[in-house]
Amino acid sequence: MSLGFATKAIHVGQEPDALTGSVTVPLYQTSTFAQEAIGKHKGYEYARTQNPTRTAWERNIAALEEGTDAAAFSSGMAAIDTVARLFNAGDHIVLAEDMYGGTFRLFDTVLSRHGLQFDTVDMCDFDAVRRSIRSNTKLLFTETPTNPLMNISDITTLAEIAHAAGVLLAVDNTFASPYFQRPLTLGADIVVHSATKYLGGHSDLVHGVVVVRSSELAERLYFIQNTVGAVPGPFECWLLLRSVKTLALRMEQHQRNALAIAELCSTHPAVELVYYPGLPTHPQHQLAAQQMSGFSGMVSIDLGSRHRADRFIAALRLITLAESLGGVESLVCHPATMTHASIPEPIRLQRGITDGLVRLSIGIEDTTDLLEDVLHALDSCR
Ligand SMILES: *Cc1c(COP(=O)(O)O)cnc(C)c1O
Repeated sequence: MSLGFATKAIHVGQEPDALTGSVTVPLYQTSTFAQEAIGKHKGYEYARTQNPTRTAWERNIAALEEGTDAAAFSSGMAAIDTVARLFNAGDHIVLAEDMYGGTFRLFDTVLSRHGLQFDTVDMCDFDAVRRSIRSNTKLLFTETPTNPLMNISDITTLAEIAHAAGVLLAVDNTFASPYFQRPLTLGADIVVHSATKYLGGHSDLVHGVVVVRSSELAERLYFIQNTVGAVPGPFECWLLLRSVKTLALRMEQHQRNALAIAELCSTHPAVELVYYPGLPTHPQHQLAAQQMSGFSGMVSIDLGSRHRADRFIAALRLITLAESLGGVESLVCHPATMTHASIPEPIRLQRGITDGLVRLSIGIEDTTDLLEDVLHALDSCR
């Protein structure tokens, strides 16, 4: 039986407990498991290696991404670090030039010291992507939509380019969530998430996952997961099993609200530019509509100056100034001084991350309340 997304989210890995009938997966807050005899156990020995609550969540997210296997980690960065550890000193990795800042920092300041080579490239420029692949290139790693400008990379074409060169394609799917985009079905080999964002969805945990569609790759991931040990606690996995049951409902409302806010912003004179892939005016709207089944809940707007950004943020009453995204509550951030402060100013400005740019993570509050808050703040920043 092929199940729909919401059904899988609620049922896969979440069967009633065989021992007690508990309808929810029990929180196995345990580090070790009794063994009947030497070498005889129930599949669980030590919780760095496997924990039943974690196994349930890994099965669930693997199904949602239409992969064969998933591995869970203590953060999105630990998940990305594990993907990088699949490769060896001297190997070369090509990153999207506008990836999450923490991903760039990981390669630039840590992994490069351990002999991994990398370059960044505009993933929308396919000739540049082809040229960036060298004889020692092992991985193309992109993110779509990107933060904060919502650029879309064409997963199908990038997979073709990568595979023609014998290279793997990894996609950071944090912004879309598996509800709206499933990169493995479009040809990607590896999906990563900061589950801190939409998968967790309630701003109450930090977590990461890697999903693959090859058991051979999965075995290598599990080896690193167990050996390095950047594993999540069982409680985070339990919270995720709970959160994911409402992912479909939440994503629909995130999108509904985000579209309403994007439409409001695109007609308001205080706004110079709106970045939302769901607007027909977004330069890659067609591509987004092809490879995603919806446009998620992130909207960026350019208000033209730092002064206006300050006034807009100060005038918001409901939407909170904070880093992170993907939670039920709406948040606003100022990329130039917050999430993207480490990028040198000329590069930042050249990419469009201006001092007037404001990023909104649109939550699942009542649409009319959010519209009123944003309209009032836009009116007061002119
Ligand atoms: C937040 C984020 C990360 C890092 O995840 P953490 O859970 O904070 O470690 C990676 N990629 C994207 C797109 C993110 O937004």
